Amino acid sequence: MIKLPEVGLAAAERFALDMLVDLARLVPAAPTFDVVSLELRDHPPRDLRGWVAAGWGIEVGDGIVRIPRGVLHAVIDVAGAAAEQRASERDRYSRVPASANPLVREGLERDPIVQRAALALQTATRKAAGRRAFRTVAAWPDGRRWAAAFTHDLDVVSWWPAFTALRLVELAAKRAFGRISRVAASAFGSLGFDPVFQGVTGVLNQEASARIHSTWFILCGTPTLKTVRAGDLTYRPESSKARGILAQVRAGGHEIGLHGSFATLEDHGAFAEQRRRLEGIAGAPVRGIRQHYVRIHPGVTEHAMTAAGFIYDTTFGFPDRNGFRLGVADVVPRWDAERNQRIAIDEAPFTWMDRALSKYRGVEDPAAWSRDALELAATAREVGGLWVGLWHPNLTPALGFPDAPPAYGATIAGVLAESPFVAPLDTLAEWRRARRAVRATAIRPDGSVELEAAVAAPSPFQLRLEDGAGKPAEAAR
Ligand SMILES: [Zn+2]
Repeated sequence: MIKLPEVGLAAAERFALDMLVDLARLVPAAPTFDVVSLELRDHPPRDLRGWVAAGWGIEVGDGIVRIPRGVLHAVIDVAGAAAEQRASERDRYSRVPASANPLVREGLERDPIVQRAALALQTATRKAAGRRAFRTVAAWPDGRRWAAAFTHDLDVVSWWPAFTALRLVELAAKRAFGRISRVAASAFGSLGFDPVFQGVTGVLNQEASARIHSTWFILCGTPTLKTVRAGDLTYRPESSKARGILAQVRAGGHEIGLHGSFATLEDHGAFAEQRRRLEGIAGAPVRGIRQHYVRIHPGVTEHAMTAAGFIYDTTFGFPDRNGFRLGVADVVPRWDAERNQRIAIDEAPFTWMDRALSKYRGVEDPAAWSRDALELAATAREVGGLWVGLWHPNLTPALGFPDAPPAYGATIAGVLAESPFVAPLDTLAEWRRARRAVRATAIRPDGSVELEAAVAAPSPFQLRLEDGAGKPAEAAR
């Protein structure tokens, strides 16, 4: 538990402090409680590496922790994406390039440093508590210490030989002749079959045997020659083939989300239109979104997503490298730096994408992609956070990717070996929203704590507190 300053914070500082307290799993308590108080202190500014080296400048006293105001500004810049919102650079897809990200600039994108700052705050608060009551909220459902989400973007449904041809051109440019002949052999062997459907079925079978549920992001617009040539919309979601895939995904108990097409970036009304259309086809609520080609204008696009009724976005990963774009392996709220206000949508940044290494780093061995996935999963586990993996179901030998399906199997097995809580992203976002809203309302004479859960945890899970030793304590009713 922790008492937070009630006055003297700018809106952005309040947002950053609330985020740190949430990531630290500390329970906010009323000012009358005999628990640790948090105070802000002034400190000369530092760069991110400087703050990391200085342990974020957090000071511990008896019943008090002090955190530099400058740390809150760093949190807003990185996790609030304020630095990206100030950047004027754009790449050919109108994206803020990774080179404008403050973590990439300091070579820190593989480390969720904002979450580590929050954990340092948790440790300092535990130390400062002494004999005072101390509680954290349990991180994830079922007593799990970290979480993982497996996600898929359905980019390819129709015209599969064209995708194979494009991939052969890419492999030829890389002089990967061994792979070219294997792709060609698989593609010819697939004539008369449907490698797209085989790819989807393969992923679904792997997940069914691992007993996990994933999230599938589906493009939902009407393709034209222009969208096809741009690599944007290439299939009609109402086609019998797309409907067949959706039915299979739904039958497996997986979540359906929207893969926002290029049009959504400028035409914000398209979000609601595509969402409604997808709900009609899928016959299920669509609560999450990820932008095709990671096309998002930070601080702007999230407003339109919120207005269209999405509860979470999962676009904030890097298109060209793997890592933690917002400095967190977790679900965090969004910030509009220009209007200086919170945006009412949660972000579950994706950590790792199959194609990041092959398309942009020249690494064509799928086993190496999988090793990278597991390295980042280990980091997410270290901070008790969430790892979000993105695997494209079209990565099959006939579509240009020999050895890819077994690499996805190895990724699932490697992640599950470390016992995360695995669920579709809507469940994880809902859990985090409920966990963030837990408040301590009283400390009873016997030292036990009364808690209030303003938001219900997703059924059948229960919010819990943990004591200073991390042992289960009170549960929400
Ligand atoms: Zn896509």
